[in-house]
Amino acid sequence: MGEGNIFISYRREDSAGYTRAIFDQLAQRFPKNRIFMDVDSIEPGLPFDQVITNAVGRCDVLLAMIGRRWLEPRDGAGPRLNDPKDFVRIEIAAALSRDIRVIPVLLDGAAMPAEDQLPEPLRPLALRNAIEVSNTRFASDVARLADAVGKTIGRSATPASWSRFTSRRPLLYGLGATAVVVVGSAVGLLTRGRPAPVQDGWRFCNKCHAMFFAPAGEGTCAAGGGHVAQGFNFVLTHDVAGPGQMDWRFCNKCHTLFFDGYEGKGVCAAGGAHVAQGFNFVLLHDIAGPGQGYWRFCQKCQSMFFDGYPAKGVCPAGDGHVAAGFNFVLPYA
Ligand SMILES: [Zn+2]
Ligand SMILES: [Zn+2]
Ligand SMILES: [Zn+2]
Repeated sequence: MGEGNIFISYRREDSAGYTRAIFDQLAQRFPKNRIFMDVDSIEPGLPFDQVITNAVGRCDVLLAMIGRRWLEPRDGAGPRLNDPKDFVRIEIAAALSRDIRVIPVLLDGAAMPAEDQLPEPLRPLALRNAIEVSNTRFASDVARLADAVGKTIGRSATPASWSRFTSRRPLLYGLGATAVVVVGSAVGLLTRGRPAPVQDGWRFCNKCHAMFFAPAGEGTCAAGGGHVAQGFNFVLTHDVAGPGQMDWRFCNKCHTLFFDGYEGKGVCAAGGAHVAQGFNFVLLHDIAGPGQGYWRFCQKCQSMFFDGYPAKGVCPAGDGHVAAGFNFVLPYA
């Protein structure tokens, strides 16, 4: 996404120690909150493979840590990589298919797997230039790796421009637990010196509890009839590179705000799945403010709803909404 994010793919049994040591070195050179690993601790409640693909998709470079046991079969089964649910396979396949730079990192004398040792979606990995990291030359090897990463993600992530960056606009926060700090105002935040584009008119529906776009009409409410606006007039930033989570869209059928970043498009109160139209909203989450918190993604209908009340509204997928993932903090006029 051009923000200088680094994803580290590794197998715990294979290279947890090396990976942790390399992470610590990289974190001295790149902002820690832009280095992602251990994706299984984030966005609870969402399908694992979608969470991984989503996280990898936000990165510019993926480091595939390959130790001596990387290809090792499980007890009584074939190589883990042959399992489509193997998370290392999902991570690397996602990076390769999205054309994210992939650097194999060969640890402690591990060999680069041959093409025919890899399942189909991972075969292009065998053609990537690898970097070796050994125990005896650890510091210089990791410095070389950091140089390669720095070249890939460009000057935006070097320490010098990073400090300029933090002084001018909010930091990008990491995914879930790794995340962080925000400087500045969410409304009218500066993107390369220009105010970010925003749209107002987004409202809370007091029947279904979803966020909907009132200027487009009452839409279709899961509680029957149209939505009914109450409370704040929310002002949402759209079509910026970050910070925040992108792929929030207006549904032109029910008029709610829904997350369009997954293959499935949720459940629409107007029938079928949501249909995206118009701007691509980029929403801040897990920050102190400004704005109203407790706005959450519903993992059943994929709409944004307000989770600050004991009652969870009416979900088009049945019963109340069920929150998952980030705590969005949405600015209002
Ligand atoms: Zn409603
Ligand atoms: Zn809809
Ligand atoms: Zn819902």
